[in-house]
Amino acid sequence: MNENKIVKIHCIDCGSVFTAKTRKALRCEKCKKEEIYRKQKEYHLKERLKREAAKRPKPKASLNDILKELKQYNEDHGTHLSYGQYTVMLSNAEHCVCCGAIIPEGRQVCRRCELKQRG
Ligand SMILES: [Zn+2]
Ligand SMILES: [Zn+2]
Repeated sequence: MNENKIVKIHCIDCGSVFTAKTRKALRCEKCKKEEIYRKQKEYHLKERLKREAAKRPKPKASLNDILKELKQYNEDHGTHLSYGQYTVMLSNAEHCVCCGAIIPEGRQVCRRCELKQRG
């Protein structure tokens, strides 16, 4: 007698019994279609997110961050720079020879390092 090649399989998704020609089949026809559809959707979603991420400009330092830095800078250096002065200074900044911190023009070390050196 010929071996019956039709096997009964429980669909791993919906649990319904279906017949197939191979035990390798995992899903019934309906779920197989849904699986393909879902994968396509996932793929398109990923592609869309990738495209959108590529379009998005890189985050710049927000005004708040700069103002926070400015406040810290003024505290560290005993200065009273305005936002405008600070941004101008950043664009042609001098750096502390000790720690690399941004310092006002005409100085070589920041206030912190100066205090450290004095002991
Ligand atoms: Zn199914
Ligand atoms: Zn320094």
